[in-house]
Amino acid sequence: RTVYVNGQYLPEEEAKVSIFDRGFLFADGVYEVTSVLGGKLVDFAGHARRLERSLTELDMASPVDMDELLEIHRQLVEKNEIDEGLIYLQITRGAAADRDFAFPPEDTPPTIVLFTQSKPGLADSPAARTGIKVISIEDQRWGRRDIKTVQLLYPSMGKMMAKAAGADDAWMVEDGFVTEGTSNNAYIVKNGTIITRHLGNEILHGITRAAVLRFAREAQMTVEERPFTIDEAKDADEAFITSASSFVMPVVDMDGQAIGSGAPGPVSARLREIYLDEMRKAAV
Ligand code: PMP
Repeated sequence: RTVYVNGQYLPEEEAKVSIFDRGFLFADGVYEVTSVLGGKLVDFAGHARRLERSLTELDMASPVDMDELLEIHRQLVEKNEIDEGLIYLQITRGAAADRDFAFPPEDTPPTIVLFTQSKPGLADSPAARTGIKVISIEDQRWGRRDIKTVQLLYPSMGKMMAKAAGADDAWMVEDGFVTEGTSNNAYIVKNGTIITRHLGNEILHGITRAAVLRFAREAQMTVEERPFTIDEAKDADEAFITSASSFVMPVVDMDGQAIGSGAPGPVSARLREIYLDEMRKAAV
């Protein structure tokens, strides 16, 4: 695989980052994951905008402008012959002279790394036909989940808790209300209304979420952006998640209890279809 690191395209074995990199020592970095369908980037503009916001919130400089970033994404898709898959991008505050909690001098060059992940069959996923199982766990992450940082230890632990329970993922709960999945936004459907938590510091502002809600409203579906409880979720007609890597994925079981009929519901299925159709058309 050819990867990109600090201005160079290199074989992955040759790409190196300093042991003093603040991404490594302090999780002082942000990231984006953009999907590729038919060799083209899905909603690149949305990911680029969110990246700029994450960087601004952390007073971090970008080593590239957004046109260069698009070019790097395209080059990697081409060099690695990606038809369906993902592109991972990470920017950190760079390598300081030594380990120090205080940020390094402003002229410290940020570190930027991108790599591709080929995932044939990403869009035509068998999981989308059966749906996935989730468990509920307490949300123990920090308070700025709207910034897409690389501090992903608790979400990783959540995935392991889900696996141990025979499930696929975990929905996190704070003060009795669902925030989001470990790496996705969470939704329920009740009497035809799509319910998902409102934006704020408590959740990541999903790029897929924004597009899916827009398509839902355009298709005259009712959307309520408000917190919902796990009990409400277990009593819902349908549930689903969204993310750049799963698009719209039905959830059919929560804490061992079937949601609705226990099979993917019509609203989730329709939204997945609309999302994939529209995003393929708009991909760059
Ligand atoms: N919430 C969290 C915590 C995530 O990690 C992700 C995916 N990175 C999402 C939501 C979904 O965001 P997006 O649709 O932009 O992939």
